[in-house]
Amino acid sequence: MTKYNFSSRVPLTNDNPFGEILTVASKPSIVSFAGGLPAPELFPVAEIQAAANRVFDEAGQTVLQYSLAQGNLQLRQLISQYMQTRGLNDAPDDLLITTGSQQGLDLIAEMMVNPGDVVISEKPTYLSALDVFKTYGAETVGVDMDADGMKMDELEATLKRHPNTKLVYVVPNFQNPTGNSMSLARRQRLVALAEQYDFLIIEDDPYGAIRYAGDPIAPIKSLDSNGRVLYTGTFSKILAPGLRLGWISAASELITKLTLLKQFEDVHSDNLTQAIIAQYMQDNDMQKHIDHITSNYRDRGETMHAAIEKYFPAGTELTHPEGGMFLWVKLPGNPDIDQLFAECIKNNVAFVPGAPFFPDNPETNTMRMNFSNRSVAEIESGIKKMGAVISSLIYA
Ligand code: PMP
Repeated sequence: MTKYNFSSRVPLTNDNPFGEILTVASKPSIVSFAGGLPAPELFPVAEIQAAANRVFDEAGQTVLQYSLAQGNLQLRQLISQYMQTRGLNDAPDDLLITTGSQQGLDLIAEMMVNPGDVVISEKPTYLSALDVFKTYGAETVGVDMDADGMKMDELEATLKRHPNTKLVYVVPNFQNPTGNSMSLARRQRLVALAEQYDFLIIEDDPYGAIRYAGDPIAPIKSLDSNGRVLYTGTFSKILAPGLRLGWISAASELITKLTLLKQFEDVHSDNLTQAIIAQYMQDNDMQKHIDHITSNYRDRGETMHAAIEKYFPAGTELTHPEGGMFLWVKLPGNPDIDQLFAECIKNNVAFVPGAPFFPDNPETNTMRMNFSNRSVAEIESGIKKMGAVISSLIYA
């Protein structure tokens, strides 16, 4: 057999513990809080179908043809208008359409990261962003966070230790995995530090529109006037993730480079899907749809929060998100989380252990809990069951 001489980007092992957890947890009999899936019953299927029909009727030949790497202009105009409602003034020319925000992260890393460069993130953070940064040879370094997001004094200390920091990656709204958001004061300080220590900020914001409590906080990008923030957005959580469409907004010099890299990578994102979303946004009140998702997620998130407080052992710490899809639990003591996971699976409930979300020094008594993908009744009964398993197994 050929011994394949893989590039240094390819992972050395095929281990995929997170994928294995999700596979086990996806059995139909299991009430899973493990994945990161939006609620499929809230997808606007009929409206997207109607938009698709119109696109085929009115522009079939155009949308089945090749197109430009930067993406459908009409869609960029509509995103630009939508982002105004979220506090960002991005011209359509300053936007690049991507195949999900995941591709946005990949293109940004490809553009900026040389092997050995440091990428700093919150600790814990979105696992698949870490995977992307590592693929380009980055050293990933975590900075602790609390209920107000990444701790800026610690970030500054970390920057002093790592002068070769190229990027600081943050998920400032209802972060995956903790559900916490970064305060305005810390956003302002982050922008000031970017100037002082000469790095770029990735503001990854898939969840910001799904706010069910508290007041919106200005996007980091709106606080910067020097082209240091790259904002990644997506339709995955506000419409449907299977559409695989997102966008990057950034200074035009960066968008020009990213557009070239995108063209090398996949020519352009699916032209048909771009046209369907543009048609959907024209024919429907997307904000009304987002409000509908948000009120459902409020019920689910608040139910989960209250049920964990009620059924998990004394000493359990948990976040209280104001939106998004996740909350974060820290169990008291030093439980064997793998045993706990196995026992939960036997009882037909699932969560994700928190350790993989840490760029370094994992806290093994943590878990990420997703509340968007289950009904209020399932959340109530599932958390009750989990609480009983945890108490009987570990804290009996
Ligand atoms: N960033 C974060 C923080 C996420 O949680 C996700 C998806 N779970 C993504 C990016 C990627 O989303 P998509 O590619 O579907 O836009």
